[in-house]
Amino acid sequence: MLAIPRHFFLEKAFEEWAYQDKAFPIGNQQTISQPFTVAYQSQLLKVKKRDKILEIGTGSGYQAAVLAMMGARVYTVERQELLHQRATILLGKMGLKGIRTYFRDGGNGLPEFAPFEKIIVTAGSTEMPEELKKQLAIGGHLVVPVGDDQSQRMYRVTRIAETEFKEEVFDHFRFVPFLKGVNKS
Ligand code: SAH
Repeated sequence: MLAIPRHFFLEKAFEEWAYQDKAFPIGNQQTISQPFTVAYQSQLLKVKKRDKILEIGTGSGYQAAVLAMMGARVYTVERQELLHQRATILLGKMGLKGIRTYFRDGGNGLPEFAPFEKIIVTAGSTEMPEELKKQLAIGGHLVVPVGDDQSQRMYRVTRIAETEFKEEVFDHFRFVPFLKGVNKS
């Protein structure tokens, strides 16, 4: 995480606070996750080099950059066109390899590229995203905050076998909501 210049991912007005452990607005009522949360989710994913990872909620692109820096191949999906475009340009400029960005409703995942060794959702879901579980490789992990709009618990779902999943529950967080459909700019 120290190797990623977080100030690149923030609007000018917030640049000087980029290295504080805080979330900041990135436009369209969305936020860049606080570094603690990025570290927490990345750790639960147990990222290995060359892992194929699906991220739902590109936002600023920061979490995707951290995963790429860890050696993963990242497929990241965003439902807000403006944020998708900004992150695509920024990640391209930074020259980070191994990140592909998609403008879609992430609720459907990316079936054409499944299975994924790891899946991370960076928006708070009111229910367990069953469609995403189907796109996990056997032995893979899905890390997703699930709860109501005020508070979510972090879940890690592991696909043990074709139809067998293990669920673990971790700490409380407050994410921006996981929404359906796309928002064109
Ligand atoms: N990982 C981001 C955090 C962004 S906040 C970062 O590092 O900056 C969560 C993002 O999830 C928002 O940009 C929001 O628009 C997006 N989002 C919410 N529901 C979504 C969905 N169904 N599909 C794709 N993106 C979604």
